[in-house]
Amino acid sequence: MFTDLAGKVAVITGASKGIGRGIAVRFGQEKMKVVVNDYHNSDQASMVVEEVKKAGGDAIAVCADVSREDEIKRLIKTAVETFGSLDVLVNNAGIQTTCPSHELSLEEWHKVMDTNLTGPFVACREAIKYMLAHNILGNIINVSSVHQKIPKPLHAHYASSKGGLRMLTETLALEYAPHGIRINTIAPGAIATPMNDHILSDPKQNEVVLSLIPMNRVGEPKQIASAAAWLASEEASYVTGVTLFVDGGMTLYPFFLKG
Ligand code: NAD
Repeated sequence: MFTDLAGKVAVITGASKGIGRGIAVRFGQEKMKVVVNDYHNSDQASMVVEEVKKAGGDAIAVCADVSREDEIKRLIKTAVETFGSLDVLVNNAGIQTTCPSHELSLEEWHKVMDTNLTGPFVACREAIKYMLAHNILGNIINVSSVHQKIPKPLHAHYASSKGGLRMLTETLALEYAPHGIRINTIAPGAIATPMNDHILSDPKQNEVVLSLIPMNRVGEPKQIASAAAWLASEEASYVTGVTLFVDGGMTLYPFFLKG
């Protein structure tokens, strides 16, 4: 537990399931005030609100599509109006589709980019604007992926959005370090969530995934949540602009285990 987090206000995008939900519940355990965002699934978001409250925090659900500038502005405004501040922003919402690059339409490219990169940029901009105006030494966590580093065939749009998110993080971290605002990236490896359920529930595909993980096991949302809680806390007060890989060693060239 990180006691300095108690009472802090956090917005988490895409928090009605998977990794976002895991972070929301952990922030609840830290006694934080959490805005649980999702774009249309209000029932699931409401369930996460109850989980956060049960864990010891406070929470509200706000439906907003992070690929839309006006909705992100409303999300940040609602957080501030409801809880009186904004200390932590977690840009977690993300989508992934599969398509050979030579057949990838511009529409599909923009859809992924708007959610995974443009949305986080707008949310960072709005959060930073608020933090600067209110002298808040806030922090932002962008949930990227090992594919900010590892190329991913059939996912040029996804990998490009995550690579862009890394550079957005580093640029903003440098720009706002003099103001005491910290911005970092968490890059998960294979984590068991609804996003990759179809892969992990297929024994053959699951075996391929495991062969890429030196620790030989898939991760859980709570392991990403631990990293997020630490980055958000004072314990990480001198950490900005980094990518924290939480991937069981996936980015360590597992092929070389074979000698
Ligand atoms: P998930 O699909 O289980 O959950 C994603 C959440 O984002 C959902 O609640 C979804 O409704 C929401 N969302 C999607 N588009 C949105 C939008 N436009 N506006 C608001 N909410 C939106 O995914 P997850 O596995 O929990 O992934 C969370 C993040 O972690 C994503 O950015 C993903 O790219 C990243 N990631 C996941 C893995 C993994 O193995 N699960 C690995 C690397 C990176």
